[in-house]
Amino acid sequence: MTAPAFPAGTILGYPRIGRRRELKRAVEAYWAGRIDRTELERRTAELRSATRARLIELGLGDDSAIPDSFAAYDQVLDTALAVGAVPERFAHVRAADGSVDVDGEFVLARGEAGQPPLEMTKWFDTNYHYLVPEIAPGTAFAAHSERLVTRFAEALAEGSITRPVLVGPVTLLALAKPATEAPVGFRPLDALERLLPVYAELLAHLAEAGAEWVQLDEPALASESLDESPARLREAAARAYAVLGAAERRPALFVATPYGGIGEGVAVLAATPVEAIGLDLVRGELPSGLDDATRAALAGKTLVAGVVDGRNIWRGDLAAAFDRAVALEGLAGSLAIASSTSLQHVPHDLADEQRLDPRLASWLAFADQKVAQVATLARGLAHGRQAIESELADASAALVDRAGAPGVRVPAVRERLAALSDADFARVDYDARVEAQLDLGLPELPTTTIGSFPQTGELRRARAALASGELDDAGYRAIIEQEIERVVRLQEELGLDVLVHGEPERNDMVQYFAELLDGFAVTEHGWVQSYGSRCTRPSILWGDVSRPAPMTVGWSAYAQSLTQRHLKGMLTGPVTILAWSFVRDDQPLGDTARQVGLALRDEVADLEAAGIRIIQVDEPALRELLPLRRAEQPAYLDWSVGAFRLATAGAAPATQVHTHLCYSEFGVVIDAIRGLDADVTSIEAARSRMEVVEDLGRSGFDHGVGPGVYDIHSPRVPGEDEVRELLERAVAEVPASRLWVNPDCGLKTRGYDETVASLTHLVGAARSVRESL
Ligand code: GLN
Ligand code: ZN
Repeated sequence: MTAPAFPAGTILGYPRIGRRRELKRAVEAYWAGRIDRTELERRTAELRSATRARLIELGLGDDSAIPDSFAAYDQVLDTALAVGAVPERFAHVRAADGSVDVDGEFVLARGEAGQPPLEMTKWFDTNYHYLVPEIAPGTAFAAHSERLVTRFAEALAEGSITRPVLVGPVTLLALAKPATEAPVGFRPLDALERLLPVYAELLAHLAEAGAEWVQLDEPALASESLDESPARLREAAARAYAVLGAAERRPALFVATPYGGIGEGVAVLAATPVEAIGLDLVRGELPSGLDDATRAALAGKTLVAGVVDGRNIWRGDLAAAFDRAVALEGLAGSLAIASSTSLQHVPHDLADEQRLDPRLASWLAFADQKVAQVATLARGLAHGRQAIESELADASAALVDRAGAPGVRVPAVRERLAALSDADFARVDYDARVEAQLDLGLPELPTTTIGSFPQTGELRRARAALASGELDDAGYRAIIEQEIERVVRLQEELGLDVLVHGEPERNDMVQYFAELLDGFAVTEHGWVQSYGSRCTRPSILWGDVSRPAPMTVGWSAYAQSLTQRHLKGMLTGPVTILAWSFVRDDQPLGDTARQVGLALRDEVADLEAAGIRIIQVDEPALRELLPLRRAEQPAYLDWSVGAFRLATAGAAPATQVHTHLCYSEFGVVIDAIRGLDADVTSIEAARSRMEVVEDLGRSGFDHGVGPGVYDIHSPRVPGEDEVRELLERAVAEVPASRLWVNPDCGLKTRGYDETVASLTHLVGAARSVRESL
């Protein structure tokens, strides 16, 4: 076939949540029964229409330049449903023809009585979470193209030929897990042969509807951190695109590979009939060392150069991006410009930010500004560099301005970092610390929580009132102190051994610190989708970080003054602060992390001075930032562990340092956990029924551990017997002298009734196991 021309410039996807979070509002109103399905559909169609109009206005006017990357909840779920991958346990949500409508989709996403939702996990090394498809040998794959076709037609009726976006078959299976009914040893990728004809059928339906190009996302090819080996993933891609390429009736195929370089994957895709190949040239490298056959094959294809960074909010070096694209000229039949990834990871529009410092704003680009950058670079490819010279020069000038602006490089911060020596990263031996901490007087199997208590509507209203000026500082402080006192008394009544203040003052565990540290800015509308209708508003870490004043000491000291028991101070660690912010790209992440580490080190010292003997530094994102490429992992582990140690190693031997990690995939980071050298590490374990404790036992980890005994992700209250059984398993693997008893994670998303019941059972179980020792 002769392919229609690929658009000169495009993006791999656009934020779907809406400039004012219209999608969130619509689906939440629908879930709450405030609007009906017709209204939900009217609102989502309106949002898509507005998106198309905006993208055209920003310069994506070519046919197929606008991706249809919409999903009401999650793009992985949508693709799974389009190929009929509905797990048996949800068979009842299917219609007679096997399709699943939006109500069914929400059931899979959110669960229902007696049936937990699909598991949710992080999408590559981002903070977006997708729903994990469940595949079995018997999964009844079938093409359900209705939604894709309807949306294509909806755009066509308004005059736009869009480019439907699907998760590609290799990535869909590589991210899936075996359904419960699958036999032991079954791997979802084994189902590829059966799945391919279904993709072919979807492609046929889209071709019939008039689609000229379809985008298939295959980021699995950029990852070395999946269960399937890179070699097997490449083999699967070779097979998949040979089959799909040979399909009789289909649109032209654009295979995108965001989130990293794909190395030999370029040759693999070039050898298939796909018409366009997208490369992430921000994270990945320019293709090199290509053999003659690959070069010959590329001559008939389009290379789509992902040179505009879809992962961060910097305006960046536009001239360098242009050069990277130009370097590919001549390598393929034609060349196009794109974002490196979907823009779903960045907020909509910088123009919505009225309160950002204009100078800072001039260094930034949100989704809409990035679309404009793509259009600019595409124009440069078509008409030569001189056609875009002024845009390139403006971006370069902003970069120069940024490099020299006050606050970007603060001599005092840099001198302090330069003066650090190895000793600043190390505490005395663990054994000596255990000795020094004996006077804490803790019982065996001490009970504690991870930090937050339920966040009530009243607290959120108080924060809003403070922000709007309706409530003054003193009024706000009184409300928070009241809440702290309530939470402290509650924990005393429950009989917990180590108390927390409950974190009522925190809107978010990262933003709270970002607002108090120098070097950060916060946005008004900079929301990005985290999962489903949930959004976060990452702060912008733009300059050298330092701490003008204590951040948590007042609240923690107040809480400690109310009780004779130990009160655990609560900080967010440097890696997590970086992971959940938009971080400066003008220096290595490790340098930035050490600056944050130093600021936290000062906070640790002030907490100690205020009489706090136990301090927890949370690092739930330690695993998330782990690079997808194996070769890059050691360097990452080195700086991430180093920054944590810098934050904590100033603590006296008698101060007990805790850390908390939020997941149970331990293998990859066990060395890092050992490296953190925290006195006590709490981890998620309840959902895996303490499997992680065995891993820990085997790994020879010999510091304190608190495997979670209560799954806080679910409103279910665990019985005392159930908790006791989990604890008994843990005691079998870890000496009781090192074992702590705590929930899986913080309680902020839970209600008070279930929290009180669950913690009562937790304390009861700890006591009874303690007596049996
Ligand atoms: N201390 C935090 C809390 O309890 C930890 C949250 C997290 O691990 N994500 O909420
Ligand atoms: Zn957690």
